[in-house]
Formats: sequence, C-alpha cells, structure tokens
Amino acid sequence: MLYIHIPFCAHKCGYCNFYSVVNMNSPDLYKKYLDTLIKELEIRINDFNENIETIYIGGGTPSIIGANMLEYFFEKLFEIIKCKDKIKEITIEFNINDINIDSLKVISEIKNIRLSVGIQTFNENSLKIISRQTSKEDIINALKLINKSNIENVSVDFICGLPLNDKEQSKKDIIFSFDLLPKIKHISLYYLELNNFLKNKWKDFLPSEEDSVNYYNIAAQTIENFGLKRYEISNYAIEGYESIHNSAYWNLKDYLGIGAGAFGCYKNRRYENTKNIKDYFEFVSKNKAPAKNIEFLDEEKRKKEFIFLSLRTAKGINFSFYKKLFKEDFIDKHSKIINKHIEYFIISKEYLSIKKIYFDYADEIILLLL
Ligand code: SF4
Repeated sequence: MLYIHIPFCAHKCGYCNFYSVVNMNSPDLYKKYLDTLIKELEIRINDFNENIETIYIGGGTPSIIGANMLEYFFEKLFEIIKCKDKIKEITIEFNINDINIDSLKVISEIKNIRLSVGIQTFNENSLKIISRQTSKEDIINALKLINKSNIENVSVDFICGLPLNDKEQSKKDIIFSFDLLPKIKHISLYYLELNNFLKNKWKDFLPSEEDSVNYYNIAAQTIENFGLKRYEISNYAIEGYESIHNSAYWNLKDYLGIGAGAFGCYKNRRYENTKNIKDYFEFVSKNKAPAKNIEFLDEEKRKKEFIFLSLRTAKGINFSFYKKLFKEDFIDKHSKIINKHIEYFIISKEYLSIKKIYFDYADEIILLLL
C-alpha cells in the first residue's frame, strides 16, 4: 500500500481538518514537489518489503496540479514501482473545480483507477457558509463530465449535519447525484466535525445533534436504496467496489506514506512526515526520509488498533485473523465484557460485529473492549 499526500489547495474550506496549504500554487512548485515525492519514494521503497497493491493519492487537492503534471507524475511513479501489474486499485481525490476533459482523460488511461470526488451537498447556501468554492452548477457540470468519461469506479463524499442541512436535503443530495451519475459505486458519508470556534460561529445554522443523526440515517437509507451496502461506519459500496486500500488499513497492513504531512506505518513503526514544505524539500534533497515523529507500535497498541478498526466495519472482528496476528483467542480474552454488553453485538462462528442500529455509538461501544 502506498499513500501519497499532495497538500496544495486553491482555498481553505471553513470546516477542513486536513493538512493542506494555500497560496503556494505555481507550476514550478508543483513540479518540484512531485519530483521530491518520487525521490522520497526511492529513498523509502527499498526498506519496504511488501508489494504495492494499492495506491491512494489524497490531499489537500491532488487534482490541483492539472492534467500535464498528473501525466508526468504517473509516468515517474510507474518507473519506480516495479510490479505495477499487481496494483489492484489506484484512488485519486479530485476537487469538483478541477474536473475537466483533459484531466479525466489522463486518469482514465490508468489501469484500476478509482476516482474520489467530494460533493458534500448541493445546497448552495450551505456551501457558501462552509466556504466551499463550488456552486451547485459546478457540481452538476463536473458529475456530467465524469458520467461521459469511461471511468467506472467512482466514489463520492457527502457530509451530514452541515449548516442549513435538513431532512429533505439529506435525501435529495443522494438522489440527485445518482440522477447525474448513475455509475456511482461507492459513497463516503461523514458527520460534520467542528471545533468549538466553528460550532459557535455557525450556531444559528447548525442542526442539533439529534437532528444530524436523523438526517444521517435518512441519507444512509437512501444510499442503501440504490443498492450500496454499508460496509464500514462511514462507507457504502456496491458489492465488489469496497475500497481495497482502506480495507487493508483496517487489517493492519503495512503502508508507505510519502509527501509533506503524510503518515506511513511499516515494521511496527508509524511515522509522520514533516508538514513544513521547505523542510520536506530539504530533508529529501539530502537523501533523508523526512519523518518528524516516529512511534513504535507494540503488540498491545496493534491489538487495540485492530479491534477499533475492525469493529467499525460491518463484518467486525475476524477471530481467525485476530488469532493469526496476536496468537490468542479473541472470545476467550473478552468473553466477560461481551456477555455483559451482549445487546450491542452479533456473534457468529467467525466474527464479532456491532449491530447496525448501534453504529452511531460505535466508538463508545468499542471502548468497552479496549
Ligand atoms: S479542498 Fe479538501 S483538503 Fe482542501 S481545504 Fe477544502 S476540504 Fe480541506
């Protein structure tokens, strides 16, 4: 698995918690950044023993670099990744405003490409409050273009609980997307997460927590009516189109992360690269891995992470896989707690999962087992 972080954005959206930088938009800088990514990959790849089967290019806004740079980058990337025929999925995040015929053409020529697009909502007033730089018309035009392209594996994101969100909008957003882009295979549906400052700033427009949960469930039901199954707390897919990359994270597979602010984890060490682009350039130019923090993951930490991530999936914890990883029996170890709170769980021969009606409280339920 390989994660590639491209941190540039044209504008900072009001609610954004991702690491991204604005006002650094120049083709020369993009080119330098892409070359540095390639160099970082060269530095790290010999130390990484796994085959790269999935690639996820996230941000920031990877699509901001434009069609020519994307083409340039993929060409360089495939020169380094030796067994590129073994890659099962390459996801790239695209901003609505960057979707154009040229960029779509470049990515449509890549085998096993998966396009991920953030819609969030079609409500113009919500979009304005959260300062997204896209209008309803922009989204419509972008989805129409994707529909005409030959890219089949498309994922879209929505956020529930946005300012001015309501019951009708939650449903309409999903239905309208499928009208424009019937080939959607995957949806990520998130709750809006805000710090106290924004909660206060938008307090007159935000739905209550209870209403947000209600809207989320309406949106989730609408998605399922289109034949997508909820396979993880925030993710829904047509069978066979679940994200392979994310599923590998949930199974604690090692992954390489490259780019300013990227995380990677292999050989039981999780690292975080420096976020400072200048430092990032400097480290890599001296042939050094640009990691700022390195955390050793002992068995206990890995176990907790596995339990946490597995229980967020619809399937839940696979007992044989747990035993293979940690050489102990999951049920033997946790039977007391599970029996005490049995109303939350489904137990089968192979799995323990949280009942879907309790997904909204999953984090609290999982804590019982950690
Ligand atoms: S485009 Fe995405 S990464 Fe960039 S500021 Fe907006 S939400 Fe954040």
